[in-house]
Amino acid sequence: MLHTSDAFVTCPRHVGEPLVRNGESWGCRNANCAYSLRMGGFQTYLGIPVLIDFSSDTLCRSEAYVEVSPQQKFYLSRYSNKFARLIRRIVGGSNKLTIANCERFILELKKGSHSPRVLIIGSGEMGQGTDILWADNSVQRVGIDIYPSETTTFVADAHQLPFLEGSFDGVWIQAVLEHVAEPLRVAAEIDRVLKDGGIVYSETPFMQQVHEGAYDFQRFTVTGHRFLFRRFETLAIGGLGGPGVVLAWAIRYFIWGLFRNRSLATIVFYSFLLWLRFFDRATDQRALWDGPSGTFFLGRKNDANFLTQRALPTLYRGFQV
Ligand SMILES: [Zn+2]
Repeated sequence: MLHTSDAFVTCPRHVGEPLVRNGESWGCRNANCAYSLRMGGFQTYLGIPVLIDFSSDTLCRSEAYVEVSPQQKFYLSRYSNKFARLIRRIVGGSNKLTIANCERFILELKKGSHSPRVLIIGSGEMGQGTDILWADNSVQRVGIDIYPSETTTFVADAHQLPFLEGSFDGVWIQAVLEHVAEPLRVAAEIDRVLKDGGIVYSETPFMQQVHEGAYDFQRFTVTGHRFLFRRFETLAIGGLGGPGVVLAWAIRYFIWGLFRNRSLATIVFYSFLLWLRFFDRATDQRALWDGPSGTFFLGRKNDANFLTQRALPTLYRGFQV
């Protein structure tokens, strides 16, 4: 999947210099580093380099990348199942707003480069509405996730991106920020690896209950999400999925709690989502600020454009003005 020179890939602990390679082995250039080639370099997992500094505080455990754990088997089988993906798409509908945002993201990237390099954080699964991003051969895609997959270039932790400063023209981060412990730090890392004028697209849930169990930590309003990227100027901002989708999620967890049955909850969820989502078409746009299923931010890196706390409330476009 990696089409270009890998000279922008670096040790997560020593981010200033590119890694050195020896055949299939990757190592830190710093001879004293625990990840130098002399010390054995970075471990690989299912053929993919694991560029995580396990000596720092991280949600990832090095033992998890030695053999396939049941949870990772679950991920691999789940996300490689194209049929299940198709069913979810039919019942859940295509996310037209994400598709439009993805088109705009690529359009903005190509203003700066004919062959932009894009970092996809959370690439283990191809995100909803991102088909065009994966199909465009002029885009140099680099995917990271905490588990390997066909679309993962490196296993890495978003809190410690293993890339040199200014390595990317764009960063796509969809359905990831809710799973990180320190979103502000992740946003700062995105800022660091983007070139000046680089484009970010971020999407994260708001009115959705806990998913992926123990690894779900955050929810953001539209403006709270935007504030993470305070050194970016806004190209597009708003909510995704209206009250119909939100109601279907609430029914799912209502059924799950009441009947203690996950499968029943999933069946009921999709049977409601199938028709409830059509009400969203008739819903006032302001509802997408007050109670959206998720929120998005598309922005351009611009250090001169620092968003202050004072200015933050003026961005609100919901019902409560
Ligand atoms: Zn190092």
